[in-house]
Amino acid sequence: MDVQPMQMNNLRQVAKSQTLLLNEQSRNIEVSGREIFKFGFGQSPFPPLPAAVDALRVHAAAKDYTPVQGLLDLRARVAAFHVDAFGLRARAEQVLVAPGSKILLYTVMAAFERADVLIPAPAWVSYAPQAKLLGHTPIRVATSFEQRWRATPEAIADALRRKSDAGVPSLLVLNHPGNPDGLSYTSSELEAIARVCNRHEVLVISDEIYGLLDHRGEHVSLAAYYPERTIVTGGLSKWCGAGGWRLGVAVLPHELLGDFSETLVGIASETYSCAPLPVQMAACEAYQWNSATRDYLAHQRRVLDHIGQITARQLIKAGVNLHLPTGGFYLFPDFTPFADRLHRAGIHSSQALCERLLADTGVALLPGDAFGMAPDHLCARLAYVEFDGAHALAVSRELRLDRPFDDAASHVLFAKTVRGTLRLTQWLATL
Ligand code: PMP
Ligand code: GLU
Repeated sequence: MDVQPMQMNNLRQVAKSQTLLLNEQSRNIEVSGREIFKFGFGQSPFPPLPAAVDALRVHAAAKDYTPVQGLLDLRARVAAFHVDAFGLRARAEQVLVAPGSKILLYTVMAAFERADVLIPAPAWVSYAPQAKLLGHTPIRVATSFEQRWRATPEAIADALRRKSDAGVPSLLVLNHPGNPDGLSYTSSELEAIARVCNRHEVLVISDEIYGLLDHRGEHVSLAAYYPERTIVTGGLSKWCGAGGWRLGVAVLPHELLGDFSETLVGIASETYSCAPLPVQMAACEAYQWNSATRDYLAHQRRVLDHIGQITARQLIKAGVNLHLPTGGFYLFPDFTPFADRLHRAGIHSSQALCERLLADTGVALLPGDAFGMAPDHLCARLAYVEFDGAHALAVSRELRLDRPFDDAASHVLFAKTVRGTLRLTQWLATL
């Protein structure tokens, strides 16, 4: 029998996520022997919390499915952790555990037949593709360098005036500390956002996955101001250095328990079933607000603050528009001051900028258009994670936390990041 090729003419428009694609591309170039500065992919450089690694080892043979919502013990710990770390009110029944927070964001969006999804620009690469996959309408909330890339209440109200249909629910995806900008909202900014969202009955997914990596340890959750309609998401990928373990959590408002939470659990049960049991057991160890966890976090923050500041200062000194980061591990350099020179060099888009930069210098950045910026806006994301996190933690622990990182240690630990940043600034200077 002749096998006829299947007609693949009705596929969805969805390319591989830019973050994951760039990671693979940089790896391929590296294999060819060229030195690559992997500032493109946002993966934590730190090893997972040792107590969690031990628990994962001990429970490696655990093989059962768990309840869809997650182990009760884990949910209770996650709730208590959010109370202790962020002062939120949360109980086990409000917590949903999943294989990564990415699928939780998708599950929350999937709870609606139709929705308008408000997404700031810039914002993390996957929110808009997820909304589109579900047939929702993504609506961009404009921000600017001058406003520290923050979504203001006015810009949110403006996006709401552009709704596809006044009758469909509005979802806002907010993220702080921010990917790609490394910046947070102040308490008064959050309060103002809460007011506008309340007025327009907006449900917010507050992606606070970098919350524990606020460099000063001063993260404030939107749920502190808008508890009734804020879903807080997070997980082990960033603060616990375990992206590949795939464990995410969502804390739902008490007010959304019932029809809404049952819809989420229904979708979860028809798609991913549950997060892996051994990883949930490991997460039980991680989600404890004890001195080991606090110490682990304090050292990560100190390291990230140090390397974030030196990298950002290097770029600002070279004339790039950039804010000093306050959390997470990203910078969002805006090369607009170099626009004339870049145009003369034939570079008219953030894609072209990143391609040329990678080819000329080996520095991998992720172009601004992946984050929803206009393609001709000459901006990109730099992830300052190109260092040995285990070594950096060990050095940080040898020093007292109240002592600054000394220059000699810093020089050894962060040489590659400094060198890559220098290549970038030298490239700009030769344009
Ligand atoms: N939100 C943001 C802002 C991120 O940077 C990431 C990174 N992967 C995620 C969500 C998803 O994380 P995960 O699925 O690993 O929990
Ligand atoms: N969050 C990471 C980033 O923004 C990568 C992981 C992912 O996209 O799932 O680079």
